[in-house]
Amino acid sequence: MSRILRVFMVMVVSLASVLAHAVGSSDETDFSQGASAMQLSLQKEVYGILLSDTAEVQQEYRADGTFYTSDALAPYRSILKAICTEAARSDCPDITFTKRTQQGIAAMYPNGVLALNEELMARLTLDEVSFILAHEFGHFHLAHSKRRIKVLAKAIVDNSIPLREPEQALAAAGFLSEVSEIHHVYEREADAYGYAYIAKKGIAIDCLRLYHKIAGDEPVSTDKHDPIEERCRGR
Ligand SMILES: [Zn+2]
Repeated sequence: MSRILRVFMVMVVSLASVLAHAVGSSDETDFSQGASAMQLSLQKEVYGILLSDTAEVQQEYRADGTFYTSDALAPYRSILKAICTEAARSDCPDITFTKRTQQGIAAMYPNGVLALNEELMARLTLDEVSFILAHEFGHFHLAHSKRRIKVLAKAIVDNSIPLREPEQALAAAGFLSEVSEIHHVYEREADAYGYAYIAKKGIAIDCLRLYHKIAGDEPVSTDKHDPIEERCRGR
């Protein structure tokens, strides 16, 4: 048994309770059809490891203050609650603020944690926040957050990326074209979800202005998104 495989086994066994909750049977259809039984089983193991690593990292972030809550979350929570009600989801994501500087304005984690960059959110109007939260909720509702981890798990197995440090493996897999392609697809779908929600609520936002407010003096990032002009076309 290779060292990596032994690491897999130890982690899977020790984190069995976390995985039992995180990996539902209905999630397992997204793995590549046509993969061999061995590849499929490795993909599932890597998927479980990445999910539990995400949960562990979040616990660390909460412990060291990278993730934190405050009274300033209240208006965002009530907007998100309305979005969840509209979608008839009783399992509304948990919101936290984050001080992670490498994170953009918001991130939806596969276990239902929505992290908001407090400093960036403070630049926005509540109408703009409604769009951002509906976009992030779209990632959750359309199961992008979990499907993305599956795409990453498959990429890690297919490309034999070492998994000793899951965060480094995730970063390495993120550069692969099959992964960045799926990011673009998910971002377009989440944008469509966000715009459909605000349209239903009679909210209008200025797309270009929103992204320039978020970016501030920094160039607008396009690593996971279409260029802003493309993203805002017709919005
Ligand atoms: Zn997104």
